[in-house]
Amino acid sequence: MTTPANTPAPSDFIRDVVADDLRTGKQKRIHTRFPPEPNGYLHIGHTKAICLNFGIAHEFGGVCNVRMDDTNPTKEEMEYVDSIMADVRWLITGWADENLGLKPAGKIPEAHTVNGEPDFELPPVTATEKNAKLTPFFASDYFDQLYEFAVRLVRKGLAYVCDMTPEETDEYRRLGKEGPFRNRSVEENLDLLSRMKAGEFPDGTRTLRAKIDMQAPNIWLRDPVLYRIRHATHHHTGDKWCIYPMYDFAHCLSDYIEGITHSLCTLEFEVHRPLYDWILESLDLPRPLPHQYEFARLNLTYTVMSKRKLKQLVDEGLVNGWDDPRMPTVSGMRRRGVTASVLRSFVYHIGITKYPSMTDVAALEHTIRDEFNRVALRRLAVLHPIKVVITNYPEDKTEELDAVNNPEDPGAGARKIPFSRELYIESADFMEVPPPKYFRLKPGGEVRLKYGYIIKCDEVIKDASGNVTELRCTADLDSKSGGPNSSRKVKGTIHWVSAAHAVDAEVRLYDRLFTVPEPDADGNFKSFINPNSLEVITAKCEPSLAEAKPELRYQFERLAYFALDPDSLPGALVFNRTITLRDTWAKEAKKT
Ligand code: ATP
Ligand code: MG
Repeated sequence: MTTPANTPAPSDFIRDVVADDLRTGKQKRIHTRFPPEPNGYLHIGHTKAICLNFGIAHEFGGVCNVRMDDTNPTKEEMEYVDSIMADVRWLITGWADENLGLKPAGKIPEAHTVNGEPDFELPPVTATEKNAKLTPFFASDYFDQLYEFAVRLVRKGLAYVCDMTPEETDEYRRLGKEGPFRNRSVEENLDLLSRMKAGEFPDGTRTLRAKIDMQAPNIWLRDPVLYRIRHATHHHTGDKWCIYPMYDFAHCLSDYIEGITHSLCTLEFEVHRPLYDWILESLDLPRPLPHQYEFARLNLTYTVMSKRKLKQLVDEGLVNGWDDPRMPTVSGMRRRGVTASVLRSFVYHIGITKYPSMTDVAALEHTIRDEFNRVALRRLAVLHPIKVVITNYPEDKTEELDAVNNPEDPGAGARKIPFSRELYIESADFMEVPPPKYFRLKPGGEVRLKYGYIIKCDEVIKDASGNVTELRCTADLDSKSGGPNSSRKVKGTIHWVSAAHAVDAEVRLYDRLFTVPEPDADGNFKSFINPNSLEVITAKCEPSLAEAKPELRYQFERLAYFALDPDSLPGALVFNRTITLRDTWAKEAKKT
């Protein structure tokens, strides 16, 4: 699989529009934005929006702003702003930071090239310092300008102060009925609006509304609320304001103020587009105006994907915080070990369309396995150990066996692993009464130890209650690589570690957080939480894992892919299972 870093993105209906606008000269340069509301951590759905907005800017020599859509003082916090910026930085570093004005632009989609060159003139990159440093923009920085725009609408007779309660307002809009305050004079409206701003009225007593059409078929055009009263401290503007603009008013104008050319959002905003255009058109702003385009959001099976629901999981202690490795948040995935390149590759391959759909989480897991198979270092570790004594091997001897680090990457080199008389193997790799065709260890049976000898199980030792505590085996001392019997074939190969040399590690075995493909289909996702989504064990690891690095990925052979957790300390290793080697859920799904 190719990565978006070095191949042109496939085109899609939005990239086609962008290319056309440059070709026809409608736009001189492309300016996109990613506008998160800082009321939670980013999730993998946001990754799609980030890669689209930064990707287009990157490919077409444009610029992308990260703008905090911070118009609601009661739900937003600085903690979220910081986490959002950290996540965006992590996602785009080394890929789309070209479009921050630091490097030349990336490759445009092949569909818009001739002989590998764009079929139109690409504009020079003109990033501001703010873009280059990936500093956030804040809608709240525009509150003064937005207020001036509101006053302008009032002066033009296109907005009025309404004294109806929120419930009455909703009811009148639903019925398409004009309210009693709709025809106030401009003077009265200006006076009331300035007194709203001055803090003379309590929350909920008045709003500023656009005067459009109470019978419009599109309910968003039925005199939508533009400003509401909220006596609340804002994370960015403090106590300066007690009236706050609504999303629809703030968003299009923030786009305009920032010079955004293509305002990309998810499909649920399609019905808001006429209002987006109405506000910009009504203010008689100098052209060009920004345009809104909608695409289908990313939905994933076995996942809930709304910040409100993710916040419930966090607040109710159902997971260990926003960055719990089971969360579909960017920070949770990062902690689990998923790389930024996996996330970019995943959203790049699912593409951009206008049709709502559900993506199988198995596709994401496949992308992880595909990359990790190429890059992960192979290591031996035993998760559920059972002791093996090689009775014909000297007690005081240690050998160093050769093991390759990654069969997919010769450049990854090799290492030595110690072998001695006492070993651990996986308890699942031994069965006292095995079924037919069981090729792992059984009484009287033979198996090859990976990178080492063939051993035969001679004796099974049990404790008083009948549990197997030890296997006594003999090794064919001629069977290791390079020995006279090295080519002798046995059906099974198992992994192992030398007991005396093993290092202990806490291993967190993560699995899907929900047990059903659509946990929120009936609105009660909390009743489908997978009770086995986390198992914590102490594993026996080959000694080289003591030097594991957070930036590397590991395959514990025959088991799964792992990454170090930030909790890990020298001498107190903690590994997270990012993903199993095979899709165990597909088998489950077939059974049912
Ligand atoms: P949520 O419902 O999860 O809270 P939101 O849309 O309210 O999401 P915002 O912070 O407002 O979250 O979103 C910022 C940007 O990310 C918006 O442009 C939005 O359209 C986009 N976005 C949000 N969720 C998804 C998704 N699942 N797939 C693609 N884009 C998304
Ligand atoms: Mg939102």
